[in-house]
Amino acid sequence: MHTIDMDLVEMTLDVMKYTIDRISNVTPELGSPRKEEELLRIVGETITPEGIGGENAFQLFRDVLVKATVPIDHPRHLAFVPAAPTRAAIMFDLVTSASSIHGAYWMEGAGGIFCENQAMKWLVSLTKLPETAFGVFTSGGTAANLSALVAARQVWREKDSSMEKERALLLTSNGAHSSIKSMAKVMDADVGMVESDEEFLSGEALRSAIDNLNEKDRKRLFAVVATGGTTNAGIIDDLKGVAEICEKEEIWLHVDCAYGGGALAANSVRHLFDGIEKADSITIDPHKWLFSPYDCGAVIYKDLELAKNAHSQKGAYLEIFKDEGAQGFNPADYQIQLTRRLRGLPLWFSLAMHGTNKYREAIERGIELANIAAKKVQEHESLELVRPASLSVLLFKRKGWKAEDYRDWTYKNHREGFALVTPSSWKGESVIRFCFINPDTTEKDIDDILATLD
Ligand SMILES: *Cc1c(COP(=O)(O)O)cnc(C)c1O
Repeated sequence: MHTIDMDLVEMTLDVMKYTIDRISNVTPELGSPRKEEELLRIVGETITPEGIGGENAFQLFRDVLVKATVPIDHPRHLAFVPAAPTRAAIMFDLVTSASSIHGAYWMEGAGGIFCENQAMKWLVSLTKLPETAFGVFTSGGTAANLSALVAARQVWREKDSSMEKERALLLTSNGAHSSIKSMAKVMDADVGMVESDEEFLSGEALRSAIDNLNEKDRKRLFAVVATGGTTNAGIIDDLKGVAEICEKEEIWLHVDCAYGGGALAANSVRHLFDGIEKADSITIDPHKWLFSPYDCGAVIYKDLELAKNAHSQKGAYLEIFKDEGAQGFNPADYQIQLTRRLRGLPLWFSLAMHGTNKYREAIERGIELANIAAKKVQEHESLELVRPASLSVLLFKRKGWKAEDYRDWTYKNHREGFALVTPSSWKGESVIRFCFINPDTTEKDIDDILATLD
């Protein structure tokens, strides 16, 4: 299975040709899902005792299966949070696989971890956290949030030994991503929602939520989670106000910037994140707005040692990794995963190749596209802006439409292979949501999508 033969050489050429064609195609076919039975009927069973052959399997993937997927980097894919990995990053994703590096410990991964850390150094510099801060790449925002919250809980438990067996409580707001509640469930922690009339979590609202906790709950409070760019609307919480309260109350502040983190590099909006430099931990997803392929998240800690205290795994067969000769940065010590891919490598190569200025420009373009779209919506007779563009997200309504009209419109555009734009809701009403990531999305793309709403 591992020997190199001519078939493998041919196979490699086929795969490389596909890869090169795919990454040079800026408007890949917008595929749509098909029923599993239907796919099975077309391709048949693919796992057999003898194997179906590489050429055959690859053909099935290329001609049938990949067409039942949506390319996330399509310029008219504005649904959820799209992505637009750079060609350099994609190519280096292949190199990462080909190099077979174990990314848990410096002993085995030194050169690769060095690269990841170079990229991380830039990410950390964007946050303006103090010198003690550093971070590690994770499988995504969910894993980064869980890693940060586990570290926070450990700190809280160690501060007061009477909390050893108590359930922990975190406070967050409605704008927080679903992964916060879901990871709290994994940790068996409780989640309290800070209620407020405002569209963001403010220092005052947090102040009164804490004041309203009974004595027991106040003692159980181990973290506050603020959001640096809500996934639904791109709204940034009042990080300065929230950080002040957390500092005074000695509560761990986690800022979830999984989507919005890229905008820390955008001078036009950087001031909206002021206060983030006081966070205890921050999540950023390079696979969202930093043009990395899936999957790549990042968790950054103000004090890396606290993360190590919570995450470093102990085991007889792991001790060797910690001997003198192998000393260095061990990514496994700072997040929930042990064996890991060097998932920050594609980002490193792309950053090294293009330089950080190109990244800043590409992120600014996403923000600019959202503002351009907002202006076009305002000029359109049948459309109505719900709120100004925030980061690269725009919410608006089609006058007179009900929930099912939005849904039908989404399916029609998708079925025709034209665009993937999905509705969302805002204050209980259906809206259309654009999220711009791909700097290659054009004004014409926006015009063409808006034209389907005439
Ligand atoms: C996307 C997102 C997450 C989850 O990240 P994954 O990479 O999908 O695990 C968490 N928080 C926010 C704010 C997000 O936008």
